[in-house]
Amino acid sequence: MTLTPPTSASIVFNNKDLSNWTQRDGAPATWVVADGVMTVASGDIMTKELFTDFRLHLEFMVPDMPEASGQAKGNSGVFLQGRYEIQVLDSYGIEVPGKGDCGAVYNQFSPLVNACKSPLEWQTYDVFFRAPRCNEDNQVIDCARLTVLQNGIVIHNNVQLPGVTGGAIDQNVWEPGPLLLQDHGDLLKYRNIWIESLPLAGSDEY
Ligand code: MG
Repeated sequence: MTLTPPTSASIVFNNKDLSNWTQRDGAPATWVVADGVMTVASGDIMTKELFTDFRLHLEFMVPDMPEASGQAKGNSGVFLQGRYEIQVLDSYGIEVPGKGDCGAVYNQFSPLVNACKSPLEWQTYDVFFRAPRCNEDNQVIDCARLTVLQNGIVIHNNVQLPGVTGGAIDQNVWEPGPLLLQDHGDLLKYRNIWIESLPLAGSDEY
C-alpha cells in the first residue's frame, strides 16, 4: 500500500535522486536511480538527516534468486538510526520465520507472522520507532521500542530491543541517527521512503 506522506514528513527518497543520502564515510551515495526506483550498488547508504522518534514508510522489492537460499537470497536491510536492522530478504513462503528472516529485528526478534510477498512484488514497511532513553551518563534507562507493519500486517508489536544489531554505525544510542540501507550484494530496489519525526515532548515516560 502506498501511503500519502504527512505534510510534516521528510521525503528522504523522492524517487528521483540521492541528494539526501551519503555512504557510510560521508561520500556521495552512488546507488543506481532509474524509473523512480533506487537499486543497491557499491556500499551501504544513509540519510544525511538524523532522527530520534519517528514513523517510517518505505517500499522494497527483492530480486528473484531461485538458486539462492538463506541469507544469500535477496539480502538487504533497513537500519533504524543506523543501529537496528529490520531484515530485508526473500523469505516468501517460510512457514515459521526466524530471527534472520525478512521482517526480523536481526538476531533479536522473529516477525510475528510471515507477511512476505513473492520476489519482484513491491512490499512495504511501516515502522513506529521510539529511541532509547538514556541518563546523563549515556546509560540506557528505557530500551528502544518498535512496532512494524509489513504489507499492512503487524509483525512486531512494541518490542523492546536489548541493544543495537550487528553492523550498527556506532554504539552511541543516545544520539539521533540516520536511516541506513544495507548493501549485502543483492539487487534490492527501494522507493517512496519518508520519515515523520515524532514529538519528544510528552514522550519521556510511558
Ligand atoms: Mg540484511
